Amino acid sequence: NPAGDVHEIGNVKLVKHPMPQDSEVKQVFIGLGSNLDNPATQRQKAIQTLETTEKLSLVKTSSLYKTAPVGPPGQSDYINAVVEIHTSMQPLELLSRLQSIENQQGRVRQQHWGARTLDLDILLYQGQQICEPDLVVPHPRLAERNFVLIPLLEITEDSLEIPGMGQLGKLLHQCQDNPIEKLAI
Ligand code: ATP
Ligand code: CA
Ligand code: CA
Repeated sequence: NPAGDVHEIGNVKLVKHPMPQDSEVKQVFIGLGSNLDNPATQRQKAIQTLETTEKLSLVKTSSLYKTAPVGPPGQSDYINAVVEIHTSMQPLELLSRLQSIENQQGRVRQQHWGARTLDLDILLYQGQQICEPDLVVPHPRLAERNFVLIPLLEITEDSLEIPGMGQLGKLLHQCQDNPIEKLAI
């Protein structure tokens, strides 16, 4: 029955409509960073855009963390956060969607690891390992960045398995202790 299963209870008809298959919806964690043009506002705008993006729903948002910059010297501090989403987008479609949100918020690519209004990285995609020219998941530098591991732990748990790398708690334990400060939610 294309209209869905019909169950009759007494004289009440219940129609169960076909739902999108669970397997089409993936659990994904995205790392968010900014150190230009009012980073807290950049993060807020990005979250609002994600909330209204089709084929995507926002599940959890970590607190905001203030972290010292990596990369070229002389940059302002960063704010970092991690969000959990559910999405039916395939990995490369999601990457390009995230890049257009970065561009929409005025991201200009100059120096490698240079200052930016908004950076959105795919940290994890449904326990998958992806190795394509434009996309590597889990994010290859995740284990060396406490500014990713700490907010990720805030919204998940120690035992979260990072494919090919091990458990989140263990990675954090082994990670260099760079300066990081938890800000308000
Ligand atoms: P890093 O990747 O070390 O955090 P970055 O975020 O500053 O550095 P970008 O300039 O934002 O690097 O991105 C460079 C390229 O990285 C992107 O064009 C994208 O194709 C590629 N890339 C590979 N894996 C990922 C991933 N997991 N998430 C986002 N981009 C990725
Ligand atoms: Ca990044
Ligand atoms: Ca990036």
